[in-house]
Amino acid sequence: MKIRAISSAIILLLFLFFWSGMDVFAQSGSTPDYDLIIRNGKVFDGSLSQELKADIAVKDGIIVNVAKSVRGTAAKVINAKGLVVAPGFIDLHTHVDSGMYFPENRACLNYLKQGVTSVVVGQCGRSAWPVFEKAEDLITTWTEEGIGPNAALLVGHGQVRELVMGMEDREPTPEELEEMKNLVKEAMEQGACGLSTGLEYLPGSYGLTDEIIELVKVIAPYGGIYHTHMRNEGERLIEAVKEAIEISEGSGAPVHISHFKAVGKPNWGLVKEACAVIEEARARGIKVTADQYPFRFSSGYPYRSLIPGSAWLGIGGIEEEEGEEEVERLSSSDIDEIFDFLRDHQLIALYKKITPFIPISERHQEYLDTLPRKELIRVVGRSLISAGIFQGPGSARERMLFVERMKDPAEAARIREKIKEYIDNMAGSENILVGICVERELEGRSLKHVAAIKRKSVEDIAIELELMGARCIPLRMCEEDIEYIMKKEYVGTGSDGTAPFFGIGLTHIRSYCTFLHKIKKYGLERKTVSLPHIIRSQTSLPARIMNWDDRGWIKEGYKADIVVLDLENIKIRTSISNPHAYSGGVKYLLVNGELVLDDGEWTGKLSGQVIRLKNP
Ligand SMILES: [Zn+2]
Repeated sequence: MKIRAISSAIILLLFLFFWSGMDVFAQSGSTPDYDLIIRNGKVFDGSLSQELKADIAVKDGIIVNVAKSVRGTAAKVINAKGLVVAPGFIDLHTHVDSGMYFPENRACLNYLKQGVTSVVVGQCGRSAWPVFEKAEDLITTWTEEGIGPNAALLVGHGQVRELVMGMEDREPTPEELEEMKNLVKEAMEQGACGLSTGLEYLPGSYGLTDEIIELVKVIAPYGGIYHTHMRNEGERLIEAVKEAIEISEGSGAPVHISHFKAVGKPNWGLVKEACAVIEEARARGIKVTADQYPFRFSSGYPYRSLIPGSAWLGIGGIEEEEGEEEVERLSSSDIDEIFDFLRDHQLIALYKKITPFIPISERHQEYLDTLPRKELIRVVGRSLISAGIFQGPGSARERMLFVERMKDPAEAARIREKIKEYIDNMAGSENILVGICVERELEGRSLKHVAAIKRKSVEDIAIELELMGARCIPLRMCEEDIEYIMKKEYVGTGSDGTAPFFGIGLTHIRSYCTFLHKIKKYGLERKTVSLPHIIRSQTSLPARIMNWDDRGWIKEGYKADIVVLDLENIKIRTSISNPHAYSGGVKYLLVNGELVLDDGEWTGKLSGQVIRLKNP
């Protein structure tokens, strides 16, 4: 039986081979052999091997032939002579789902133009609930209306916790835990690929290790992956990595560390120890992987103020380092005053950042109103500042008041001292760049440099820039760490970017250039790692991490997600003050066999699919 099957397969193949050689049929109007052939490209298949000159034939969304020379005809032939051909890039960590809620952003052009054909969404504990009541609703919408890149959904722990427990800082009761587990299970049944946590965000941070283990246990039998924005990325990085590993061990699911890095100058270099912890766990057979974005600054930078909020307003109390005393002092002040303060100063923005899908509801306001005042200051005030949302007063009156306060020498000295501390803690004046500024020539220069040019102290320059509305970019990660992490064979690429409305607002440049920037800067210019290493980190490695066995490779039988890239002409056009600019260099892009970029231009196709896990 087997032999018969094989021999008939051989006959069929021989027939196809000879038939495909007869171009004359195709030219006379008969059906071409393939939908598309990419000829003469320098193929990087997703492995660490060097390029291979090959042709690739695609039919019905699948790579059906990879050979030195593919014979036969195709409806479309791409001549890729001199171009790199690789599996489409897979972004392990994005927040494009909130942007993709809007049909006009559903193509995610900013990602397609980087060569990205798949994204993983529902990250950092936030997922598409409760705007969509169920994972299924979102999947249905995207399937019916189409999406640019393929998308895999995670269910967010923070979101699930909030649905069941609100914003309460306590352990769940057994019933509540059961309810959370059921919600996670439901999402997995409906097509989620795993669970994400945002253990630095509210209310994710209220979830203790055991709670997370219990929830991750639910996804394990489905082959789900636990993605974590860890509890700490600064001075307690090692502890946080150990917790991530403990959760994997306790639940039986692989753990994937999101945007792996060490934040804050005093913590630079900690990644070496963190990697050692990861490698020790991997040697014990635990599946631990990570992703990174190749930039020294994180999100939120367009909002960063050069002056701490406490210095602006003359209340010193809500920074962590100020200690309990200040909290006490504020706690005993008039509750209405505190409410007014928090309300006036973008509490709304905080909530939008933490739960972008949730409109501010009565429920949130009620919750805030019931918080004990001490908690309110601790939780909300600190979050505002640490999230970098607290910008300092924007109104002219508040600015005037600030200037008036600076006229008192004692007060001015106190404010300067605060600013100095703030700048040192953030990254140091040599590592804080001027982001957006009316004096355009100062943009991109360090605070230290600007102070030197203007012959003023760093603190005075910070005040001057702040008063003219400038924003800064603290370089809170260091280049050595980025390169150290990048070399690891278990680290993939995750942009952490969004799908913004083109041209509106400020956004991190990573949303527009992560994948090509990594190739250009670290592969071609600095040669930190080889080109195959980078391509692997954004193709076959993420596919393996996500448990996909039909994407991430240029191989026969794999889905035809393919990028054709002009390596010599990669153009990074996005910049800090003008972030909305698409990258150039991707000549052709196929998503599920459909041409979505043709000669660099979007064809209007939305051929991405929602990726579900294979049956457990
Ligand atoms: Zn995150």
